Amino acid sequence: MLERGEVANSWRTERWDSLRLLTPNWQTRLPGLRYEGPDPDGYLTVGEVVAFIERFAAVTRAPVRTGVNVTSVRPADDGYHVTTTQGEIGCRAVVIASGACNQPSVPQFAGAVPASVEQLTPFDYRDPAKLPDGGVLVVGASATGVQLAAELQRSGRPVTLSVGEHVRLPRTYRGRDVLWWMDAAGVWDQRYDEVEDLTRARRLPSPQLVGTPERTTLDLNALASMGVELVGRWAAVRDGSALFSGGLRNVFSLADLKMNRLLGTFDEWALTKWALTKWAQTSGRDAEVGPPERFPPTRVPESTRLQLDLGSGEIRSVVWATGFRPEYGWLDVPVVDAKGQLRHEGGVAARPGLYALGLPVLRRRRSTFMCGIEDDAREVIEHLARYLAARR
Ligand SMILES: Cc1cc2nc3c(=O)[nH]c(=O)nc-3n(C[C@H](O)[C@H](O)[C@H](O)COP(=O)(O)OP(=O)(O)OC[C@H]3O[C@@H](n4cnc5c(N)ncnc54)[C@H](O)[C@@H]3O)c2cc1C
Repeated sequence: MLERGEVANSWRTERWDSLRLLTPNWQTRLPGLRYEGPDPDGYLTVGEVVAFIERFAAVTRAPVRTGVNVTSVRPADDGYHVTTTQGEIGCRAVVIASGACNQPSVPQFAGAVPASVEQLTPFDYRDPAKLPDGGVLVVGASATGVQLAAELQRSGRPVTLSVGEHVRLPRTYRGRDVLWWMDAAGVWDQRYDEVEDLTRARRLPSPQLVGTPERTTLDLNALASMGVELVGRWAAVRDGSALFSGGLRNVFSLADLKMNRLLGTFDEWALTKWALTKWAQTSGRDAEVGPPERFPPTRVPESTRLQLDLGSGEIRSVVWATGFRPEYGWLDVPVVDAKGQLRHEGGVAARPGLYALGLPVLRRRRSTFMCGIEDDAREVIEHLARYLAARR
């Protein structure tokens, strides 16, 4: 196992200070190790995630060689030739577990933003003090964007949030964490070959969720109540001005509709009492839930700005919360598509002996989260073992 940094490198170096997992502690598990602390419904801090992964590495005695950067993997007669900063390695198979979020995705027009406006990505951001005083334009309203917009607004900086397609979710539903419902109703278990539009599922933005001790919902209504100004999707920069799409009403109603549809599937699932009872018996957990709820629609602002002069001094910094992407510059095997994504079938890449783990919806919806690795790793490694056995 080669790691360019230290164990849990992404959590040590690529996260902001206040981040907590959005998955509850009962869902914090890796094969053979699970959260066993006093707060199963809480959310781990970044430091706690690092400690958890370090413990996993120690308990499993994972053969990790840290400080080894892989600079090239290329096909060889008998498998692959791997070049690293610590020497060359020949191997019969390679598992790519380099992560799905190695770099922030930033639109090209960021280059046209005037130099007087400071630009940051979530990789640079640590806390509000990192930004100059004055207005902030946060771009993207998924988990990262809503969390940073709330934190920056609380720091006293006026925040404008540019909102594109997003996934709205309440933190709790009928008295339970919304991710409890996903788990219990089997949403996470849906397999990749059962998902109707797999490409879309793999590109779906993260839900508007935050893990706070108070279990607060952080949707656009909550942000607007805090004073955050909502504008449409940032489409272009022209003559030093940011141009935003109109049609926020449609974007909001689509997100509301999808949320209500999901809550409806939870209600249907809970109605079949036997399913709830059976789930409680097999999981050993309490299945008490409250009555069905519905949430107010996302409020559409009376008027939204379509243009913002970036040279006026109103906006002093831009935070790009526009998603992340993997980085495969070191992979000299033609298995990466034009969008920079690895071509694979459930973790089995398009070239024999090449495998992947840790990508969104790799083999099931759960794969997007840490707790998805157990089943994925078992199935992918079974394939790998068969491949090696056949070659022998
Ligand atoms: C902001 C954010 C919040 C998240 N919140 C949650 C959450 O609440 N709950 C949850 O379950 N999941 C969450 N995730 C997803 C979670 O991070 C991933 O599921 C998990 O980290 C995947 O682990 P991984 O080991 O596959 O990838 P990573 O954690 O990305 O690890 C990949 C490792 O590969 C190393 N590497 C990369 N390239 C090379 C190379 N060329 N040579 C050597 N080493 C290399 C990197 O240094 C890194 O340590 C979040 C992700 C992000 C970005």
